[in-house]
Amino acid sequence: MHVAIYARHSTDKQETSTQDQIRRCREYCSVKGYHVADVFFDEGISGSHLANRPGIGALLVAALDGKFEGVIAEDLSRISRDQADTANFFKKMVFLGVPVETVSDGLNNELHIDLKSTMNALYLKDLSDKTHRGVVAAVLRGGVPGGQLYGYDLVHALDEFGEPIRGKRKVNEEQAIIIREIFEYYAEGRKLKHICDDLNRQGIDSPKGGKWAPSSLVGSFVRQTGMLRQTLYNGFVTFNKLQYRKHPENGKRLSIVRPEKEWITVPIPELAILKEETFLKVQKALDERSSMHMQRKLIPAVMTDEERRDKSIRRSREWRPNQAVGNKRANAVFGGKLYCGEHDQKITATYAKHYSCPVKGCANRNLHYDEVIKLVLDAIANLDEAKIVEHFEGDELRNIRAHHTQEIARLTAQLEDLRAGMNKVIDALGPDARSNEIRVFFDDKAEQIQRTKLDLAHHKRALADNASPRKLDAIVQHHQKLIAKLAVWSRDSEAVIPMRQIIKRLTLTSSPDDLGKPTCHADFDFLAIIAKSQTT
Ligand SMILES: [Zn+2]
Repeated sequence: MHVAIYARHSTDKQETSTQDQIRRCREYCSVKGYHVADVFFDEGISGSHLANRPGIGALLVAALDGKFEGVIAEDLSRISRDQADTANFFKKMVFLGVPVETVSDGLNNELHIDLKSTMNALYLKDLSDKTHRGVVAAVLRGGVPGGQLYGYDLVHALDEFGEPIRGKRKVNEEQAIIIREIFEYYAEGRKLKHICDDLNRQGIDSPKGGKWAPSSLVGSFVRQTGMLRQTLYNGFVTFNKLQYRKHPENGKRLSIVRPEKEWITVPIPELAILKEETFLKVQKALDERSSMHMQRKLIPAVMTDEERRDKSIRRSREWRPNQAVGNKRANAVFGGKLYCGEHDQKITATYAKHYSCPVKGCANRNLHYDEVIKLVLDAIANLDEAKIVEHFEGDELRNIRAHHTQEIARLTAQLEDLRAGMNKVIDALGPDARSNEIRVFFDDKAEQIQRTKLDLAHHKRALADNASPRKLDAIVQHHQKLIAKLAVWSRDSEAVIPMRQIIKRLTLTSSPDDLGKPTCHADFDFLAIIAKSQTT
């Protein structure tokens, strides 16, 4: 393995000199059989302020160029005396895929554990493009591409060659407090408008001066812009999102969103303002809220009748728990759900505590509450894990899931095609293309992309809605608890209300084999069972 040695010596007399550190590292490498490809050091520089050390900066750039596969230092304190700083360095090395070893305690794996979900999704993509490499190198040394950004001040610093590092920033603590506040509020579920009103009331200036507006916080869904999506607040720079082309007719700059896989994300942890947890929570909320918002706005007009019906069913299911809470009247658990199996008619209350099928001469007439409740409780008591599995693994749901999976694949490919097609046309556009046609073409393509994205979101949600549930034992246990309550007192509203929500239909059938005694069959609303188990 080719490795690089890093050494640092401050003016502190207690420390081993740079030369001593390098000698110890060389000995370690020869024992381990490593080939020393390069040596980097910082002399007379204190352990903090990693960002101002030219040796480390040069090491990062060399690592990016693939000059070595590992870094050896005498001790962790050589990298930095500051724990956060050390962690920052490790994040960057993980990004570059370069492990760090110390002579004093070998491989420092424990630090890698600290790098959570965002880092897992991160890897160094193919960087054959020279301009991209340049930007990545600058970012690793603390330079952020792009203009002024709320939450940071530009600082002027020179690199190891005495050249100014462009876009170097430091956190502006005053603005950072406001950013944290905005993210916390949004994560709590507060409305954008309320957050803005609040900031305006406090007389806090918006990033551009003047009043805060929801659009600056949430930006564009397609372009993934806006303050709440700013990855730098989580310690990552994302660039290469947009592609700029000159409009052939009027010379104006057109910007086109690149496919997400072409975006480049580089860690710059020293500029993080938020806890990763908060940032991720807000991203999730943004995606949910924006796709819901778009669906509400755009979908109804183009929905098929079937989709409309689906939507209204889902709505009523979501609303049911709220309505039930307000309804304090203790109903029969089977009220409104009981059907005559023979005549397919609702069995309703006729007079005090008696229930009947409306068809004259039917066996299911003049049934007493005590008799019915006994049959019903027996029927609903036999919900077990096998029944739930049977439902979710049955052909119907399998087909539904297969359908959505297929649609997701199709739409993903379609989206790629649309984007590729758009780029091709942009490349091919000559100077004599008429501007009106071009505008129509782009509007049309943009709308198609938007529609495809919405369709994708719809199918992804539907797939999740129909996925097999986990924690089946907990669901069944919860169900049995309700049954036990009903066995004690069948009108216990604490059990009646939640139980009614998960029963789809109860069918009473009089079987002649059983001396004309009716039996009861329960159909459950399995999606409601799952939804219920997630809220309790
Ligand atoms: Zn009947």
